[in-house]
Amino acid sequence: MSASGIVGKTRGGSDWVPQFVQSLDATTCIGCGRCFKVCPRNVFELASREDLLEEDDDEDEFDTDNSMVMVIRDAMDCIGCQACSKVCPKDCHTHAAA
Ligand code: SF4
Ligand code: SF4
Repeated sequence: MSASGIVGKTRGGSDWVPQFVQSLDATTCIGCGRCFKVCPRNVFELASREDLLEEDDDEDEFDTDNSMVMVIRDAMDCIGCQACSKVCPKDCHTHAAA
């Protein structure tokens, strides 16, 4: 976190540094939808793993038993609450301050 980064305030007036979602690991995601449901913004969308594989040369990394995978649709809509990471059973998301 840097002095020039995005810093919010809690209702009590304390500084709060949002941790914005940076990436989602498609190799560990099981497509459970928990992050999609909990996210208060329009950051995620469920995608067909087959469609994702067509855009990725490294097919061996994916578990093809899971037909659906969560992807980041609009990272710029993230408010950095980290709710997605709290509910993800597979630790798929990474976050960073801006
Ligand atoms: S940090 Fe919050 S707003 Fe951002 S993607 Fe996760 S749940 Fe959505
Ligand atoms: S909560 Fe985790 S495992 Fe479930 S869809 Fe989201 S990223 Fe994938």
